[in-house]
Amino acid sequence: MKKEKRIEKLSNRCLGCSKQPCHFGCPLENEIRDFIKCMKESKEEDACDLLEKTTVLPALCGRICPHEKQCQGSCIRGKRTRPVQIGAIEAYLGDYALEKGKPLKKVGARGKGYKVAVVGGGPAGLTCAAFLAKEEVDVTIYEKHAYLGGLLQHGIPSFRLNKTLVKKTIHNILSLGIHVKLNQELGENLTLKTLEKEYDAIFLAVGANRSKTLGIEGEELEGVYGGNELLEQENHPNYQGKVVAIIGGGDVAMDVARTIQRKNPKKVIVFYRRSEEEMPAEKKEIRRAIKEGIRFRFHANPVRILGKRRVEKLVYVKTKYKGKKQEKKLVSIKGSEKDLKVDYVIRCLGSRLDASMQNLPLKYTDTSVIYTKETGQTSKRKIFAGGDCTNNIHTVAWASKSGREAAKGILAYLEKTKEKIKN
Ligand SMILES: Cc1cc2nc3c(=O)[nH]c(=O)nc-3n(C[C@H](O)[C@H](O)[C@H](O)COP(=O)(O)OP(=O)(O)OC[C@H]3O[C@@H](n4cnc5c(N)ncnc54)[C@H](O)[C@@H]3O)c2cc1C
Repeated sequence: MKKEKRIEKLSNRCLGCSKQPCHFGCPLENEIRDFIKCMKESKEEDACDLLEKTTVLPALCGRICPHEKQCQGSCIRGKRTRPVQIGAIEAYLGDYALEKGKPLKKVGARGKGYKVAVVGGGPAGLTCAAFLAKEEVDVTIYEKHAYLGGLLQHGIPSFRLNKTLVKKTIHNILSLGIHVKLNQELGENLTLKTLEKEYDAIFLAVGANRSKTLGIEGEELEGVYGGNELLEQENHPNYQGKVVAIIGGGDVAMDVARTIQRKNPKKVIVFYRRSEEEMPAEKKEIRRAIKEGIRFRFHANPVRILGKRRVEKLVYVKTKYKGKKQEKKLVSIKGSEKDLKVDYVIRCLGSRLDASMQNLPLKYTDTSVIYTKETGQTSKRKIFAGGDCTNNIHTVAWASKSGREAAKGILAYLEKTKEKIKN
């Protein structure tokens, strides 16, 4: 079936509900019902314009958002049968805009005459920059790597997200007149003080791509790696003929396992301390991992890594639930300790901020991320922050939303300071 026909068919399944649960299920609050209505009437241009009000990443979010947990998870259709495939429709529109060379539009001039620095070129930084540039703010993105995109480029693997599409999306955003300074690392060759002097406001979007530690004996041995770092730096060891243990049950664990599986190991085994049903990874990613030959040990909790200089064995205990419903507690089963010969152990237990970003002269939360108000403003009036380096849900759409909302916060702050100067 031709792409347009397929999308028309998918759009026609939308009931156009007045309560729009999909809109509220979407972190970006995209006008889903209304852009689908445009699609039913074959008004692609109008549909793209509606989407652009809330997002500048439709071709990407349409593909990699956890739709089951967001918009599609709230779709009324899904209660009885399959939900409307909102992601596919959004991706189609994102592609349409890029293929037609449809530029992002300016919407006003509230920011004219102001200069804002955005530190970090991932989804949060790119979105904030775009929504500021749409209001004529003079924006410069400072990025530590030699490329933009953040985890869109060096986290989500290319077998799940086409990198040409990432580049095209970024190119479209930069066409709003955004300046870029690559190889500029805050804390290394760039300081907040210099930026504060040079700019009217700053948006920090440095992410949180350092793997959490396991906190078990043997973690310092050669052959233990962080999953986030492996993907970002692409410094994989040679896995050929080796047994690789992945610790964790989230999406990062699935991406790391599937990336390594493509590099000819003997075996990749995922260790997760709870049941398969409780794994936080998306169900479709788990299915794909199983199909690709990745093995799983559920209710298996690693407690030690053994080896003289490098990893030789992983010791784990079996777990079970004890107690009734609310008091249910995960406990280790006595005498269940086992070990397994492994060559590599990869930590995928969640992400944290880089140590250098934990010492900025700003307030931090109890969970060691940058504290922000709802507007994105930090403890310093001139400095805003968003995305994974703040108390935000770690997905592209949530990061993007925090960038968009911070752009609003920054514009309001700039206008307020102008008022003060006038008076
Ligand atoms: C392996 C993996 C797979 C994922 N899969 C999905 C998925 O399928 N769907 C989904 O919705 N979410 C997914 N996520 C989560 C999602 O990618 C993040 O929540 C999102 O990218 C966060 O955006 P961000 O802009 O806050 O941070 P990032 O994307 O991390 O961007 C931060 C940027 O700041 C730069 N930077 C860092 N420190 C400095 C510094 N000191 N100076 C200058 N620049 C700096 C970085 O190089 C980077 O470009 C995944 C995450 C990982 C790790």
